[in-house]
Amino acid sequence: MVEQNDWRLSNDVAYLKKAYINPTDGEEICRYAPHLKHCEFCLEPVQDNLHQWWFVPTDLTCCICEECYNDFKEDFEWKKLDGWDIEWFVRCPQCGEVLHKIFSEDYVYECSKCRMLFSEDLNDGLELG
Ligand SMILES: [Zn+2]
Ligand SMILES: [Zn+2]
Repeated sequence: MVEQNDWRLSNDVAYLKKAYINPTDGEEICRYAPHLKHCEFCLEPVQDNLHQWWFVPTDLTCCICEECYNDFKEDFEWKKLDGWDIEWFVRCPQCGEVLHKIFSEDYVYECSKCRMLFSEDLNDGLELG
């Protein structure tokens, strides 16, 4: 059971309410999403370990350890996905470079090589102003 004043809720985790969550493991996170270093709730470090379970929201903004996932899944009303459709990264349709998301609300990606911005569906290229 989780109490209202659980210390793990001191981070700003409200954005994870009702998120869609994929299961994965430490090895995949280290390989594909190395910017995720620790559990968003308890700060447990991600290890390069196939047997360490992790849970990630579809936008890969953070990762959640197995224990915190189980403790908070009801409170946060998480919807568990099957883990097969994780989009680990998005590549530039022009040059293949991995794109980084900017402006988190608007789902805009930037290619650092060709200096183009792309909206979520990648078909509308926007020139950088
Ligand atoms: Zn945790
Ligand atoms: Zn590019």
